[in-house]
Amino acid sequence: MIANPPLNNFNHELEELKRLNLERTLRVIQSQQDTEITINGKKVILLCSNNYLGLANSPLLKKAAIEAIKKYGTSSSASRLISGNMILHEELEERIKNFKKTEAALLFNSGYHANTGVIPAIVGKEDLILSDELNHASIIDGCRLSKAEVIIYPHRDANYVEMVLKKSKHPKKLIVTDGVFSMDGDISPLPELAFLKEKYHALLMVDEAHATGVIGSNGRGIVDYFNLNNSVDIIMGTFGKALGSFGAFVATTKIMKKYLINKARSLIFSTSLPPHICATSIKAIEIISKNPRLIKKLHTNVEFVKSELKNLFPQIPNNEIPIIPLIIGNEKQTMKICEKLLKEGLYIQGLRPPSVPSKTSRLRMTVMATHTHEQLNRAISVIKGIFNSLRI
Ligand code: PMP
Repeated sequence: MIANPPLNNFNHELEELKRLNLERTLRVIQSQQDTEITINGKKVILLCSNNYLGLANSPLLKKAAIEAIKKYGTSSSASRLISGNMILHEELEERIKNFKKTEAALLFNSGYHANTGVIPAIVGKEDLILSDELNHASIIDGCRLSKAEVIIYPHRDANYVEMVLKKSKHPKKLIVTDGVFSMDGDISPLPELAFLKEKYHALLMVDEAHATGVIGSNGRGIVDYFNLNNSVDIIMGTFGKALGSFGAFVATTKIMKKYLINKARSLIFSTSLPPHICATSIKAIEIISKNPRLIKKLHTNVEFVKSELKNLFPQIPNNEIPIIPLIIGNEKQTMKICEKLLKEGLYIQGLRPPSVPSKTSRLRMTVMATHTHEQLNRAISVIKGIFNSLRI
């Protein structure tokens, strides 16, 4: 191949990432998503997936998907506003609306589509967004696309939010936050933010990607957990995590749904979810609505692991959320420990900037409802062994 200077520039950038220990590569999972997976032909305990309830390989979800494929085919073949609005999209929205106890629900193709579609649809260049400094990248990108003035407030700092809102003369003000923070597993101060939203006539949007199926009555999420159903304007949630499926939704008012159908570009200009994915999500909601023991089992496992690791990692939040950050700081060391754990039969992916702030690189450990006591005991013993040897 002829040398191509513009392409070589990318190579230099990759070399630079490597030098900074920030190069990312893909790992191949050769099995289905279970508590144990196969990597490089070797079985390891999976401790970094968002399959919190183990539903991603549930026989009931698989059956629902297969039956829907037989009946409706493999693709919707168009966006919802053309010929891609199928009966299962409507049914799933109905289920979500009832599950989240809101007036309406609207599907998006992923959480990333939802955040980058909704935020620029509801605020523009005259407006103000208040965004938590640890919000997910899809919220950050949605804020950027909106061209609104974005004030990034210190993590969970409602006083700061009030200070900004007090001075704001913007026509529209949006407070947007992760409900459960994806890298830290801590929870947004929603009661305070809901109070400020009322006081200053702002909008409040909450991302429940890691709260849906995890917390609240029957996994209804963090807004339900705080009993704030009537105070949050837009609840965003995803199906690709605890619900073992794929895609996302917003639960909101009828008017907002109508508005977003007209204005959210990621909805208007993208092929809608395949019908079998909707069928899978419908089944997942059915399962968690009828089966509170599954979420209880998740919380029991979380409590056990957190109580065992608290001494080694005092920053682990004391709550029922299955995201357990093992913060190391240094990028190189984080990835070294990740490989060491893998050799010992545990897969806990290391996360580095820009996924997390600089100097806070970590292993983002997650617990599943379906982990056995033996698997968790083995994981705890390996983690303690490796981290204790590092500290000596
Ligand atoms: N919001 C949060 C808080 C997330 O963690 C993620 C996924 N990591 C998303 C949104 C994006 O969701 P999806 O994977 O469905 O695009």
